[in-house]
Amino acid sequence: KMAASPITDGRGMVRGCLVSLNDVTELDRKNVELERTLSELEDSRKKIEAQNEELKQLANIDPLTGCMNRRAFFETVEQLIAQSRRDGSHICCLMTDIDKFKTFNDTYGHAVGDQVLVQVSRVLKAALRPTDVMCRYGGEEFGIILPGVAALRAAVVAERIRVEAQAGPGIRSIPGLRVTASFGLSSLEFGAPGLKTLIDEADQALYAAKQTGRNKVVRFDEMPPVQRQAVAGG
Ligand code: GH3
Ligand code: MG
Ligand code: MG
Repeated sequence: KMAASPITDGRGMVRGCLVSLNDVTELDRKNVELERTLSELEDSRKKIEAQNEELKQLANIDPLTGCMNRRAFFETVEQLIAQSRRDGSHICCLMTDIDKFKTFNDTYGHAVGDQVLVQVSRVLKAALRPTDVMCRYGGEEFGIILPGVAALRAAVVAERIRVEAQAGPGIRSIPGLRVTASFGLSSLEFGAPGLKTLIDEADQALYAAKQTGRNKVVRFDEMPPVQRQAVAGG
């Protein structure tokens, strides 16, 4: 409720007007309501943000291994390649595929096959640096990008993770299981114009590793030219 009363001087002249709000409970109530609405809005904004984050994760992450999926890999690596074009830094690509993986499924069942995938991906990830990018490229194939690393050193890294991939604790815990993987290595140094060719070269080297006995690293530049296939575009 509002009340108004005149302010008079000593001679009874009106000099002003005093307005008083005797009842502020209505205003208080409105304020409380407003605050509640605002905090509800803030809550739903936070919820939507969390849901968006979750959707982004689902779109980028392979649910079995928790690795980046192929789509996110391409997105991330295209940026790294653009960066390397700007500053001339090295980029190497490793493609790796678990050897005779089908026999694990056939011998121990699909669940153990899944477990091997999870363990191998963990061992690979642990052997890499935080700036390296790794994805589950396909079924039992992983793609790895080593930014700022030249072929010579990438070959050493590949050799190290080839050995570590067969020694992970989770893998040793399955009796009788022997896991090996083959690796193909390519580098922008070998002349690939873009990511597509870089991956294809590493894939060709991986294929050569499979053809020549598995459980090894093959460099694309060390393949006999007759074994190399031309790649169209990028
Ligand atoms: P190679 O040494 O030539 O690579 O032989 P391989 O048996 O590993 O290769 P192949 O491509 O013949 O078989 C791959 C198998 O991987 C077949 C497929 O059933 C299995 N696989 C693909 N994805 C998954 C998965 O998510 N879980 C399990 N358990 N198996 C999978
Ligand atoms: Mg395989
Ligand atoms: Mg395969």
